[in-house]
Amino acid sequence: MRSSIKYLLVNELHDILNAEKQIVKALPKVISAAESSELKKAFSHHLKETKAQIVRLGKIFRLLNVAKQERCCHAMKGLIEECKEVLQEFKQKSAIRDVALIAKAQRIEHYEVCVYGTLRTLAREIEAKEVVDLLQESLNEEGSANSTLNKIAEGGLLKSGVNHQANLEGMPKLKRRAAKKVKKAIKKRASPVKKARRKK
Ligand code: FE
Ligand code: ZN
Ligand code: FE
Ligand code: FE
Repeated sequence: MRSSIKYLLVNELHDILNAEKQIVKALPKVISAAESSELKKAFSHHLKETKAQIVRLGKIFRLLNVAKQERCCHAMKGLIEECKEVLQEFKQKSAIRDVALIAKAQRIEHYEVCVYGTLRTLAREIEAKEVVDLLQESLNEEGSANSTLNKIAEGGLLKSGVNHQANLEGMPKLKRRAAKKVKKAIKKRASPVKKARRKK
């Protein structure tokens, strides 16, 4: 059983090594495609982390005394393909395109959380303590990458009314004044705190 668990662990390591390399290749394009500087920063930070994760995987192969190998991660290929679709569908930088990019990037982080979670459990099973710790580090990074994206989407982009903003940006100049009125009305409606105060 022990040797077959190690076999499975190594197989999954081949998959994630390839997945991480695909991410390193794809991220620069996504960074320059993002409009929000906060989002750009988050993606850039995660690119650095991803490169370190690849180094970490190298260490893990050494600790396990197996050859460093890759096997195409088809799932990551598809997930990255979806990111590219966003850039094809939304040609210009916009808040709404940022949200679409976040949605796709979060799928990637969730996938990685799954893989590292499995890897860590398998490593624990064969009592490879150092390997467990290294995998836990990467797992934590993937988790916090995901929650950072959540914060950017929910704390900034979405609550400030990304949908409305995107609609207004698309309006021709003539309608700008009307658009401003709509924006004001939305702001009023969107503030439950003020509403509550007004009742008092
Ligand atoms: Fe990663
Ligand atoms: Zn990552
Ligand atoms: Fe995979
Ligand atoms: Fe990631």
